[in-house]
Amino acid sequence: MVLIHGGAGDRKPNARQRRCLTEALAAGFQILQSHMSALEAVEAMIRLLEGSGLFNAGCGSRLQLDGIRRMDAAIMEGRHLQAGAVAGLEKIRHPISAARLVMERTKHVLLVGRHATGLARRFKLELDVSAGSSARPTSKSDTRKNKKNTLSVYENLAQYDTVGAVALDREGTIAAGASTGGISQMLPGRVGDTPLIGCGVYADNAGGGVSMTGIGETIIRLALAKQIAMDLKQGANPPLATRRALRELVQRIQGAAGALVLAADGRYAIGHTTRWMGAGYWRGRGKPVVADRFG
Ligand code: ASP
Repeated sequence: MVLIHGGAGDRKPNARQRRCLTEALAAGFQILQSHMSALEAVEAMIRLLEGSGLFNAGCGSRLQLDGIRRMDAAIMEGRHLQAGAVAGLEKIRHPISAARLVMERTKHVLLVGRHATGLARRFKLELDVSAGSSARPTSKSDTRKNKKNTLSVYENLAQYDTVGAVALDREGTIAAGASTGGISQMLPGRVGDTPLIGCGVYADNAGGGVSMTGIGETIIRLALAKQIAMDLKQGANPPLATRRALRELVQRIQGAAGALVLAADGRYAIGHTTRWMGAGYWRGRGKPVVADRFG
């Protein structure tokens, strides 16, 4: 079983994005069918979206207010609770693969900034050479504009386009991941929920796998991915766990988010508080299902 999302927000996902999500589901499921792990499937699905340039991830990522693209990603597997993440990564085409490197090639969980970028380069991850991937000098008028924008940092957050995936393999292992360029009008150095294990991403075979999207500042404060996974562990089904967590997010802190949730028994939920969420799932029968919103 594979689940995918391309972010939640106020703008309807376009046809190219939907097609790309469908292709990614098909690619992810094929990996599971060839007896590879959920981790492989999640990484492959997210790489496809990162490389498409159609989403706010990888080479399609937003720029921070100083004109630099800094990306965050995380990946986790639910058998041994192994996890890896990067934050503030620059000029790397597939941040999700950098997150996996942290998980598998270091003893750490999270690397940030130039050190994360350095690790990715040492392992020869593909570079991102698209526009905005490297530093550009900031002009005086940019600085003035940015200062003004900083004051209204929350005003223009209506479209997120972050990507994420969750998969369950034949061995019963769940993996989850997410990758993002962040939100609009971010101060340089801002890090969202995506690379924080338990906030944007969580996977535990004893409960389930979760990949979040939305305003990171609100998702972090409720550690939503872990909260949903723990609710599953205590017996809630995915729709109930998702509804409860999103309701709390809205009622307590007026947050906005969407969630992909997959339980160890294969039941799943896709929920969002925003108007739209481009997402989908596939169990391998019929065609992959991708929709603009989920009820
Ligand atoms: N959650 C991401 C962040 O806050 C943004 C998103 O999901 O679109 O960085």
